[in-house]
Amino acid sequence: MSIKGYGKQLRINLGERTSKEEQLDEVTMRKYLGGVGYGSMVLYSELDEKTDPLGPDNKLLFATGLLTGNHMPGGGSIEICFKSPLTGGWGESRSGGNFGPDLRKTGYDYVIFEGKSQDPVYIVLTDEGLEFKSAQSLLGKTVEEKTNEIREEMKDREISIMCIGPGGENLVTYSTIMCDGRAAGRCGAGAVMGSKNLLAFVVKGKQEVKVADKEKFLTAIRKAMREVRKNPDSAEFKKHGTTGDIPGCDSMGDWPTKNWQSNSWGKGEVLYGHFFEKNLVRPNDCYTGCPVGCGRVIKVEDGRFKTPEHEGGEYESISAFTAFLLNEDMDCAVHCTYLCNQLGIDTISAGGTIAFAIECFENGLLDKKNTDGIELRWGEPDILPELVKKIARREGIGDLLAKGVRRAAEIIGGNAIDYAIHGKGLEAPAHDPRSGKALAVTYGTASRGMCHIHPLEGMLYDSGKVDFGLIPFGLQDPETIDRWDEKGKGKAVKILQDACTLPDVLGNCKFMMYCGMTLDHFAEIISGATGWDMTVQELLKAGERILNLQKLFNLREGFGLDDDQLPARMRQVPAFGTYSFEERCGINDYEMMLREYYEARGWDEEGNITKDKLKELDLEKEKYPPQD
Ligand code: SF4
Repeated sequence: MSIKGYGKQLRINLGERTSKEEQLDEVTMRKYLGGVGYGSMVLYSELDEKTDPLGPDNKLLFATGLLTGNHMPGGGSIEICFKSPLTGGWGESRSGGNFGPDLRKTGYDYVIFEGKSQDPVYIVLTDEGLEFKSAQSLLGKTVEEKTNEIREEMKDREISIMCIGPGGENLVTYSTIMCDGRAAGRCGAGAVMGSKNLLAFVVKGKQEVKVADKEKFLTAIRKAMREVRKNPDSAEFKKHGTTGDIPGCDSMGDWPTKNWQSNSWGKGEVLYGHFFEKNLVRPNDCYTGCPVGCGRVIKVEDGRFKTPEHEGGEYESISAFTAFLLNEDMDCAVHCTYLCNQLGIDTISAGGTIAFAIECFENGLLDKKNTDGIELRWGEPDILPELVKKIARREGIGDLLAKGVRRAAEIIGGNAIDYAIHGKGLEAPAHDPRSGKALAVTYGTASRGMCHIHPLEGMLYDSGKVDFGLIPFGLQDPETIDRWDEKGKGKAVKILQDACTLPDVLGNCKFMMYCGMTLDHFAEIISGATGWDMTVQELLKAGERILNLQKLFNLREGFGLDDDQLPARMRQVPAFGTYSFEERCGINDYEMMLREYYEARGWDEEGNITKDKLKELDLEKEKYPPQD
């Protein structure tokens, strides 16, 4: 049995230039829902631990969510799932934009790329069918150049395109897939696409996504939309975007500085003032119909970092090119993030890896002989654009830095690993668990590593006092806890993760949950869309199942207790800044928090999933042999 309007996928073999349409059954759809939920099931079932992330056997799955679409508040998501060339584990990456809704309008919820094309190719999927087109002329071009050339060739300015830049072509392990100024940025999706000789994926469809009960669906959507619009955080996001969080994060001790030597810098207000006055052109929605519109159009008017108007300048990217590097030149930061997006490499990993390299240089582990004569120094804006270009081209020192901090540290040797700040091999983003301890657990245990999306519920729970409507389902009221507390955080994180993975399953921007959407809204909308009688409990169970499946994927790849740890520096009281005398800021008993978390998850003390838990989640038939 299939569910009307949902669950159709296209499997494209790039080597054989063939495709196959497949219809999913309703039981599978309801169990995994969509997005990264469905993606977890596909990758776990179809890959094994021997799969080379950059070999033809890896798969690249473009997954819409169950609710991806222009009606849905924040419904412009597309999720990409793959085995990560950066971490060797579970890889997923999300982008906003119109690509997700436009893919669904072709009649497909999922497209799976397999194999490797002999020649550079780009794929066009429309209502008229599928085309393999030569991408020879696109080789080496920037994201904007590729996008413009394809739009010209297709004679269609509106067509949706996701493409890689030179970073993906050169297999930079943290290269991105770009979508109209937005990035599917983390874990190296761009390198997987590049390894398949697939340079772009282009979609356009006109088909309506059918829902089971249109009136019920639209009523539930309108209710959620009202909630988001009246939330005061929506107006703040619209006015200041995510970059407007910089001054607050700096003062809260939530702004990692100088490669995590501190969690505050004291320069956030001045830097954001420059950004707001000089760089911001206007707010922007990343997809048609977003009620928040956190996107920014920015530029650098003149000077040596002159940069054209473009979509960009969000909190993480700007932080990676300011506080991470002690760079006080905001124009330089804007320019570097623009370069990263044009060249198709992840801003967070790029900034984090450069910070790591500067510290290695400062401590004599690298010298000018290794760095093409570049003196790597803190707070030196002039060296940064060149380093970004070298990484994307894998030239000289760029080749080492293109491997990410964990592998670069292994190659450099000595105590370089002390300066490599990552989780599961993914460079840490710009929030600091010393400002609130739930973030420590979410950082350590997130499936794809230390990312900027999944762990944020921990940060918001601790610092922002957001409960996501989960108190009736067992979450301790955040008003009753202190951000410095460690006890109770592991337990809280379990339910926060189960709930907050759902936006990436349903195809909904997570900011909607920060701005008032709850699982009750999701359950009502799903019920209208599918005809199922969805409950919050069922959604939470689905979230738990999906996270356990990603854990199974990582366990099969050899990840264990050590991979759920935090870098030593992240646990220490900051070396300087506002919080350098605040003992409560250090993480004193991470092991206790981790034990508490494993217990709440029903895992054993090593973090292995028990047979009972697999049975409870209806995962016992999966291939990985669980420990008792
Ligand atoms: S809140 Fe921001 S990221 Fe989310 S859908 Fe709207 S514009 Fe895009």
